[in-house]
Amino acid sequence: MNLIIFGPPGAGKGTQADFIVNKFNLYKLSTGEVLRNEIKNKTELGQKISSIINSGSFVSNDIVKELVELFISNNKYKDRLIFDGYPRNLIQAKTLNELLNKYDQKIDLVLKLSVSLETVKKRILERQTLEKRADDREEIAIKRYKTYEKSTEPVIEFYKKLNLLKVIDGERTIDQINKEISDIIGLI
Ligand code: AMP
Repeated sequence: MNLIIFGPPGAGKGTQADFIVNKFNLYKLSTGEVLRNEIKNKTELGQKISSIINSGSFVSNDIVKELVELFISNNKYKDRLIFDGYPRNLIQAKTLNELLNKYDQKIDLVLKLSVSLETVKKRILERQTLEKRADDREEIAIKRYKTYEKSTEPVIEFYKKLNLLKVIDGERTIDQINKEISDIIGLI
């Protein structure tokens, strides 16, 4: 089973993805985390992308495609991936489809965690004190939320038309959301 988890920054995607990974023995591919590690490790790529990420803009589709293909092509992850933060626009959704076809896989389920901008602002400020992410400043968080609405919402529509989408109310407690997600995955 491969799945995608969508939601604006601060929706709790990472937390829920970690929960699903443990419970269902999957692997998380968070493109944001992979990119932040490149920056932390001061790789050539990391140096190229740090100002883009810190300003809340998107890294190029080609860079992300290369990273994603490394995972999809690896047999260890075959049919066991949860995509967090990817695809983020329609071009990436098309690319993901092509990559999955190439390696004889597909998406089985798409989850969307739905939360308001007010909740996002509150959670991002809380996370800022814990994780100190450079892109968790309030104005950058608002920009990331708006970009999510503009670029990523059309991608969610794309999966809705394929009947793969389940929308989850992300304003509830972590446990309540865990339970709903487990029930949905259990039905697949
Ligand atoms: P995230 O951890 O998913 O919130 O991602 C943090 C940042 O990494 C984003 O604001 C982008 O700058 C970059 N990023 C992560 N995933 C992608 C992607 N699929 N396409 C382009 N940029 C991305």
